[in-house]
Amino acid sequence: MTSTLHFRGRAPGRAVSVVQSVAMALVALLLAVVFAIGGGLPAKAADGASPFGSMDSVSIDSQGRMTVAGWTIDPDTAAPVEAHLYVDGRGVPSVANIRRDDVGAAYPQYGANHGYEISIGVEPGRHSVCVFGINVGAGSNTLLQCRDTSSYGSIRYVYPTSPFIVTPLAAGQYGAPRSGYTHQGVDILPKTRGVDQPILSVASGTVTYIGPLSSGWGHYVDVRNDDGVRVRYAHLKERAPVSVGQRVTEGQRIGTMGGSANGRLDTYAVHLHLEIRPSLSSSATTSPLPFLKARVR
Ligand SMILES: [Zn+2]
Repeated sequence: MTSTLHFRGRAPGRAVSVVQSVAMALVALLLAVVFAIGGGLPAKAADGASPFGSMDSVSIDSQGRMTVAGWTIDPDTAAPVEAHLYVDGRGVPSVANIRRDDVGAAYPQYGANHGYEISIGVEPGRHSVCVFGINVGAGSNTLLQCRDTSSYGSIRYVYPTSPFIVTPLAAGQYGAPRSGYTHQGVDILPKTRGVDQPILSVASGTVTYIGPLSSGWGHYVDVRNDDGVRVRYAHLKERAPVSVGQRVTEGQRIGTMGGSANGRLDTYAVHLHLEIRPSLSSSATTSPLPFLKARVR
């Protein structure tokens, strides 16, 4: 991970010029004003005793693991101090003790061991990400930086087939009670019977599984979208013409609507059983059509 080092404040121990002194006084005044107005913002920066540092990078991998990296130093000690990450208010403590030669070169009196790299699992969507340097000795905790981030970026959605109607049967609705379980998807019918209707990936993503005809879903395919959302397309007419690990784009054909299940190709009337799991950390489904309606443009 490459990152740019952002220097904050002055390098302790150096002579302070008149210009710097005036600038610092202005900053202190500004902070005092903000403090007076906001009531909650700690007036710290200019005291020379509170932690300083930087949030250099925020990255999120395809599994939804967010990693926030940077560095912090407390002028009261050369020892590493704690850096605390807050994502949407959830706190993750850590010790900023990773070697950062660039920090050591800029602040030699404190050494190089002041980097932090803090990870946390996040759901798809926007997140507020803040890091605090935790104070020791004189001074107070420092909010190093806050950022809003949209994990995975935003991706385009399309409907999984067209034209379609939602089954009129109660048992085919999302959440319908079945004997001993709940229907975890919605059943979608072709508008016209008797023609092969393509099934399209609703978003860009990666094929994660090809389900066997012998399953209760018959031939099916699972795709993990690039925003982390997982989608199952079931009862396909034949084995999906894609392979595990293959990249797909929104609107790409990944199968043909069918009625397969339990080892037979004609267990059901032709329809698509569609399941959507929006959370990376849970297997819970959501009602597919409202989910898509909110995203298809
Ligand atoms: Zn179904």
